[in-house]
Amino acid sequence: MPTFFATVLVLVAAMVWMGVQLLRQDRALAGQRLREQCDDAADLAVASLQQQLSRTEERLTALSAALNSDLTVAAGAFANRLTAGSVLLVLGASGMDVYPERRLLFVPDAARPPSAVLALFAEADALEFRRETLRDAIAVLRPLTRHADRAVRAEAQLRLARCLWKSGDPDTSLAAYRDLAQFRSLPVLGIPAEIAAGEGRILIFEARSDRDSLQREGAALCEGLRSGKWPLSRRAYAFYRNEACGRAGTATPPDPPETVALAVAAEEAWANRGAGGGGRRIVWHENTPILLVWRTGVERTAVAALGRRHIEANWLNARLGVRIALSDPEGRIVAGAAAQATVPQTVRLAAATHLPWTLHASVPVGSGALPARNRLMLTALLTLVLLVLAGVYFIGRAAARELEVGKLQSDFVASISHEFRTPITALRQLSEMLVSGRARDDQERGEFYRAMAAESERLHRLVEGLLSFGRMEAGAIEFRMETLDAAELLATVVAEFRKSADARQYQIELDNGDTQRPRVRCDRAALTCVLWNLLENAVKYSPECRHVWVGLAREGCRAVIRIRDSGIGIPPAEQKQIFEKFVRGAGAKSRSIRGAGIGLAIAEQIVAAHHGAIAVESVPGEGSVFSVLLPAVE
Ligand code: ADP
Repeated sequence: MPTFFATVLVLVAAMVWMGVQLLRQDRALAGQRLREQCDDAADLAVASLQQQLSRTEERLTALSAALNSDLTVAAGAFANRLTAGSVLLVLGASGMDVYPERRLLFVPDAARPPSAVLALFAEADALEFRRETLRDAIAVLRPLTRHADRAVRAEAQLRLARCLWKSGDPDTSLAAYRDLAQFRSLPVLGIPAEIAAGEGRILIFEARSDRDSLQREGAALCEGLRSGKWPLSRRAYAFYRNEACGRAGTATPPDPPETVALAVAAEEAWANRGAGGGGRRIVWHENTPILLVWRTGVERTAVAALGRRHIEANWLNARLGVRIALSDPEGRIVAGAAAQATVPQTVRLAAATHLPWTLHASVPVGSGALPARNRLMLTALLTLVLLVLAGVYFIGRAAARELEVGKLQSDFVASISHEFRTPITALRQLSEMLVSGRARDDQERGEFYRAMAAESERLHRLVEGLLSFGRMEAGAIEFRMETLDAAELLATVVAEFRKSADARQYQIELDNGDTQRPRVRCDRAALTCVLWNLLENAVKYSPECRHVWVGLAREGCRAVIRIRDSGIGIPPAEQKQIFEKFVRGAGAKSRSIRGAGIGLAIAEQIVAAHHGAIAVESVPGEGSVFSVLLPAVE
């Protein structure tokens, strides 16, 4: 047995070791595969980015060379493909056009030409700034508000509103400012008409201490500024934003860094518009990168200012199954998410790919098949080990049982030899005494003969018992069933038993239940054997109390025979086992009570063949009751 367990232990250890090696190898292989996957994905991503960039550059080249008449439509089509946070800039001699409109918070300083109409207002301005001639100034300005040139009308409207306010007519001034706002982003005195109108109205509301109107006006102005609808320089934007939002009285959230970065990138593009040819450059504003791609034609430069969102949404192919990140030469991430340091990644340097970024391809943690495979292998290994252990357990249990049966059998052989030896020795001694004529008289001779008969009877029963057991083991026992009066059978067996040598010093009390005499279908000899065994046990295991009670009763449709003693009793743990072959109780062995451990096994099988059952109730030290339950025949 120990050798067996040691072998199994070595086997399990070998299996675990092999499993671990396999897992390691698998992990290395999977790592290799991941690296290859990253390499392939990186190459694909580089090719795709190169293609996207050159396609964008081709379109910019077309825009830079387009006819003026086609430009708006072509630029609009280009801008339609841009996601929020990106913009197309067309830089020409007359300034900068932005597609889509209103996407920049502010525009480069010199992007707007100065107004050429100021000369018309020299007289009005001179009259306005001399206080006593405000009315004259108003008179000069009124006709100019109906001038054919829109720019002149707007400049006149601003001055008129201002003069009206100064002359103490705020309501008419407010109306004039409202008219001025109709000119929207047309520049008056260098700022969009709507801002000029808003500022004027704010002054009036402030003077009137009209807080509600003041706040409303400030909020509207602030909202307009943040929507990028007015082409302001960065400085003007910052100034009016502070002014207007301060007036609004509510905390205004800071401008999104992406929008600010886009406007800053536009400034860069404007500042470098003379660079010529074409190029790509990453412009950073704080932590936000904008990629500038430009192409310069004869008349203009077309610039695509591309934010992170555009690159991620349109240029980084999400279907590659790996995580792609782009970084600038300083290692700052321009698009995508940086890979964790622990995962394998492939890097393609900008110098090698001619892209404006260094590309990193990595497998997202937990997305690979590796952990799933590992889990599967571990589960398989664990199952295998468990199966082996379970197998070992069952084999061990079967072996232990076999060993136990083997021991029981050898005990049985020893007991049975002893059982035989006792009557044979007695018979030999008695016959020797008779042969050598040592009996004193006929009476003593008669006693010798009776003793010999009793011993022969015991031998006979022993042999019969063994034969029945043998037949039962071979399944060859045959019963001759007949319908019998259970009371009559029981009385006969008890009477017979009383005469046996074993029962000689015992009182066997029989209560056959007077009124009801159940009838049972049984094999007389077999049932006699059962009852004899039980009676013999009751006597054998009651060394001190020499009284045995036998009873018969009808309980429902069953005849119940009970044999009760006040003997040594049976511990609860043994009460089930004693019906197994060769099993002898601890009490029987410790007291050296003769027996072979097959009596109850035979009894149980016989009763079961009669469709009945045998049961025991026992308290150690107090005695036992064995009940034979048989179906009663009507
Ligand atoms: P045997 O009596 O030859 O040992 P049995 O199969 O008749 O074999 O009984 C099995 C065991 O059951 C006995 O060894 C004994 O321990 C226990 N036993 C049976 N009958 C009694 C009883 N009436 N009182 C106490 N123990 C009993």
